[in-house]
Amino acid sequence: MTYVLTRARLATMTAGGGAYGLIEDGAVAVDAGWIDWVGPRAALPAAYQRWPEWRVDDRLVTPALVDCHTHLVFAGERVRDFEQRLEGVREEDIAAAGGVGTVVAATRAASQHTLLDAALRRLDRLIAEGVGTVEVKSGYGLDLDTERRMLLVARHLPEHRAIRERTTFLGARAVADEYAGDADGYLDFVVREVLPALADDGLVDAVDACLQPGAFDAGQVARLFAAAQTLGLPVKLHADQLTNGQGGALAARFQALSADHLEHLDDAGVAAMAAAGTVAVLLPGAFYSSGATRRPPVARLRAAGVAMAVATDCNASSSPLTSLLLAMNMACTLFRLTPAEALAGTTRIAADALGLGGELGTLEDGKRADLAIWDVDHPAELAYRIGFNPLHERILGGLA
Ligand code: FE
Repeated sequence: MTYVLTRARLATMTAGGGAYGLIEDGAVAVDAGWIDWVGPRAALPAAYQRWPEWRVDDRLVTPALVDCHTHLVFAGERVRDFEQRLEGVREEDIAAAGGVGTVVAATRAASQHTLLDAALRRLDRLIAEGVGTVEVKSGYGLDLDTERRMLLVARHLPEHRAIRERTTFLGARAVADEYAGDADGYLDFVVREVLPALADDGLVDAVDACLQPGAFDAGQVARLFAAAQTLGLPVKLHADQLTNGQGGALAARFQALSADHLEHLDDAGVAAMAAAGTVAVLLPGAFYSSGATRRPPVARLRAAGVAMAVATDCNASSSPLTSLLLAMNMACTLFRLTPAEALAGTTRIAADALGLGGELGTLEDGKRADLAIWDVDHPAELAYRIGFNPLHERILGGLA
């Protein structure tokens, strides 16, 4: 399909294009799913003037949004835990009754069909807000079969919805119960059996881990990352969320695509991430839901030139969030990002955090024609409003 989208206010989000890379009265020429030309309508080359015109009535057009950190596929909810916590039940008693272990048990027991149904319900909320690409992590199986089933569901999402996906293997989210007290033993199992098998199946685009007391330490994460690199897979890291584990620096040492959370990131971590070009993925939904008080060092990240993405972290525990627009709002109100940074964080920078910056995340010729058309006057409105979805239409690969 070939057309020229006109009468649009374009937020191109190009690097170095100023805040939003705004073009008033812009035009976007789309050919066979790709952007062929972007600029002011008055400068549209003659060759495109014969193409069919699609007027969008002065609406705002941005790149389709990218949610670069989700745990979308799981069975079981922790809504009862949420309720009990607010009824005054002690945290130890909630954990003793199962905690996140209930999600692992439910996910292990769920069929691929059940997991798909649950994932699609969450995915539909994201798509309704203009998301065109979603990253999905495994990590609620902690055994080979369930980790594979989670990644298969993620990989096949585009057969059920117009969406692009990237899969991330997060077998090192926590130590499986079968290896309780033996994190090294579990990690050996992941490195020797699970990761190679799933990589061989073509189900792994990146490898992630949780660096956290009670999960895995720096030496164990380094061992996993070395295995990932041997397989030619990029890495990401849940880092420095609850304590300073020097996770930012560890991620940077392995040229990670991103380090995520980062509430306790220190100056050495900021510098290491800046030098490595590792993206900082900010997850305000987890910060908000868990009642955290320490914010990620946004001003220091900004000053050091570390690119910041924003994602939902949609998961079964700490971030039951399926609104990327709300994550943008929270990133501004809670973390003090500017609205332009929040939108870059869910477009260009989010694409970079997935290694997809060459094809997604901006309105530029040569990029995929993944667009979101909004009923707003100014792009800052996307982050300003709360509980408001102004999406008019989402276009994926040139198709509405
Ligand atoms: Fe996460």
